[in-house]
Amino acid sequence: MLDRCATLTVAEPRTPYQLTTTGQPWLEVLVDRPYPRDSQEDQQILTYSIPPDLTVEIGDILSVPFGSQVIGGIALRFLENLPAGLEENQIRPVEDVITKGFFPDNYWQLLTKIAQYYATDLITVVRVALPTGLLRSSQRRIRLKPEAIPPGAEVFCTPLSRQILSLLKNQKEGDYSAKYLQEKVKNANYGIRDLVKRGWVESYLEAPKNPNIKLKKAITLLITDFPADLTENQRKIVEILRHQGGEMWLPELAQLAGTKHFKPLIDKGYVVIEDREFLRLSSAIMSRDQPKTLTSSQKQALEAIQTLKGGESVLLHGVTGSGKTEVYLQAIAPVLAAGKSALVLVPEIGLTPQLTDRFVARFGDRVYVYHSALSEGERYDTWRQMLTGTPQVIIGTRSAIFAPLPHLGMIILDEEHDSSFKQTQLLPTYHARTVAKWRAQLNHCPVILGSATPSLETWLESQVNPSLYLSLPDRIQNRPLPQVEIVDMRRELQRGNRSLFSQSLRSSLDTLRDKGEQAILFVSRRGHSTFVSCRSCGYVLECPHCDVSLSYHHTEPGAQELLRCHYCNYGRIHPKQCPECGSPYLKFFGTGTQRVTQELTKEFPDLRCLRFDSDTTRNKNAPRELLKLFTDGEFDVLVGTQMLTKGLDIDRVTLVGIMAADGLLYHSDYRASERAFQTLTQVAGRAGRGEREGKVIIQTYTPEHPVIRAVQTHDYEGFVETELMQREGLNYPPYGSLVLIRFSGLDGEAVQKSAENVAEECVNNFGSDWDILGPAPATIMRVANRYRWQILLKLSGEKADIGGLLRPLKSLVLPKVSMAIDVDPLTIE
Ligand code: ADP
Ligand code: ZN
Ligand code: ZN
Repeated sequence: MLDRCATLTVAEPRTPYQLTTTGQPWLEVLVDRPYPRDSQEDQQILTYSIPPDLTVEIGDILSVPFGSQVIGGIALRFLENLPAGLEENQIRPVEDVITKGFFPDNYWQLLTKIAQYYATDLITVVRVALPTGLLRSSQRRIRLKPEAIPPGAEVFCTPLSRQILSLLKNQKEGDYSAKYLQEKVKNANYGIRDLVKRGWVESYLEAPKNPNIKLKKAITLLITDFPADLTENQRKIVEILRHQGGEMWLPELAQLAGTKHFKPLIDKGYVVIEDREFLRLSSAIMSRDQPKTLTSSQKQALEAIQTLKGGESVLLHGVTGSGKTEVYLQAIAPVLAAGKSALVLVPEIGLTPQLTDRFVARFGDRVYVYHSALSEGERYDTWRQMLTGTPQVIIGTRSAIFAPLPHLGMIILDEEHDSSFKQTQLLPTYHARTVAKWRAQLNHCPVILGSATPSLETWLESQVNPSLYLSLPDRIQNRPLPQVEIVDMRRELQRGNRSLFSQSLRSSLDTLRDKGEQAILFVSRRGHSTFVSCRSCGYVLECPHCDVSLSYHHTEPGAQELLRCHYCNYGRIHPKQCPECGSPYLKFFGTGTQRVTQELTKEFPDLRCLRFDSDTTRNKNAPRELLKLFTDGEFDVLVGTQMLTKGLDIDRVTLVGIMAADGLLYHSDYRASERAFQTLTQVAGRAGRGEREGKVIIQTYTPEHPVIRAVQTHDYEGFVETELMQREGLNYPPYGSLVLIRFSGLDGEAVQKSAENVAEECVNNFGSDWDILGPAPATIMRVANRYRWQILLKLSGEKADIGGLLRPLKSLVLPKVSMAIDVDPLTIE
């Protein structure tokens, strides 16, 4: 179970994987053509034949005929037989191979493995891996290689080839677009192919031109589902955006969607349009730094890393502020020196500018960032740049695991426990850590998993072999971990304190400014209040499209009072009276960041507070700018959500207050405790990282909760031991493994019926091997008008070919109900 990725079966679900032509005439090509109108997945994979004089390898970039055009494509897979419904005379031949080696070795094996394990089509994996528009906006060009042409040899080639040669020779650079040559010379392609074979010219793809404008309009999707109030056209726009990863340049979307009419979507709060700046790291402004002299535990860790064998993964378990990043930096230096590259994955780039800065300070312009917020052109540029194979460090989020580095020497996942490494909304539902391990095995390089609060999976794996567990038990310079004080909020109430702030937190905040120190207050929800209800009749204001209450949003006196759904982003103006009984007495429950900020300003007028949540940091550069204001001392208190947990390292922060820990503790999910422990420990770890000692105050109504106790005593191991015992008893991960089948659709009965059909078939077919739980409605049964049911499969031992086994069951699903398979789900709520 633990080493389930140790044996790599490199096979596509349907037919075996094969890398070169061996008399198989049919080829599936992923063609780059505009988004198909009816959004059928397979429409972008077409079948072609291979002309006898052409050698095609999987992963080659091809030009293929399409209608009256010639377009770009990628060779995906050889076929022995034509797909059903296709006749031989309908198949057209591939025109030519444009570029070879556009993907590093083993890349297609990796993508195929992902498709198989996560039970999706290869094309779905290809879409997350490759930069969008890889071929669309690029151009095929032909370049002369004069040094390769033997003197006088030209007379021996065909007139066609000679004609092309002379055209190229007359051009200053010896370089023309293929299109130009085709216009000038009839049947130019035969000549080009001949010349490429002789090695006298080369064919290459020119990158799409980067516009020189600094700012461009980008459009970002804010919803994850399809609200019912979308018109057909709006639905199409949302669909396109989703396919492109939720973000696009405005003109590109306008072109694909055939409309510029986005205002209704903006007004409904479903998309935003904003100016985006080209994201480039300016290494010039950064001062260079030198490797630090390592502490003895850092040294031990580094030595162990240097003796790792290819494909091994090691846990670097270090408390917050213990110097993990310095170990990464020194582990990477020899990798670069050996001419290889390193891949560093982080949960969120915008929130960890300091980390990126430290890499740039150490390695200068050999550091690149690669993530989904890059523009199409930038992604494409970075992609080609990576392929050159020059030693470099790529820092990126989840999808950077697909960075095409040819000589990969090391993969690092910082904060490996972070759930953002798992893709949950879109397919494939891959986990970057799992993919990293496969990639490391294919490339024979080590993986370093760093965390102060390792996931239970990683912890358990590292216990198997002591050389795969590295520990940095102390903070640098033996700075103590912060003192953690637990405040029982029930007592505060008994004592007559009705404020949000306990006596203890209050007195710490009182002295904050005098001491010249800063504080972080953690609140688990954004908005003002989590729900609004009527004091007269008890009516709760709910989202019309989801089974959840609406959150109240109100930032300051005079500002618009809004109600917003945190699931589908539906918004409305806060009513003056109860919609049910007309009573004016509406009361707010549950505390969010806005309310904490308001109360703070009211009770501590001297303190300057800054709110830091997804409402205030929506703009790409906002997190960095807000953090800079805080680091520069423009503010005293930072009030924020989960975003605070991700690696902030600010010297003057001595106080961390957790407003209500209880919001994290009670979820039906089996991972709730693990997540709560990780979040609380990470937030607590923001305190006292500088010279001065830190203090953490946790306010809770259940001080006796084991998670709270473990956080107080910094007792990771104790917590893990108890938690693992419970998981083992129930055969939950990391012991057994889970597969979640999700059903959703607008018709609740159809969704339920589909789930029942599939569950029944699962019991019949696999009931003796697997535990089949459900079908059951999801915890929140309706989101954005879609009803949601699910079946949970609990498997022990080696995981079977889930896709192969479950895909046929799709035939039991009623029309207009969707079925999605989530392998190793992180949440099952
Ligand atoms: P972590 O990544 O574990 O949170 P960092 O690598 O950020 O820890 O280290 C915390 C602080 O200690 C940073 O400011 C870093 O520059 C400093 N530091 C790390 N290693 C050393 C060392 N060997 N000597 C001196 N300072 C160090
Ligand atoms: Zn009422
Ligand atoms: Zn909603």
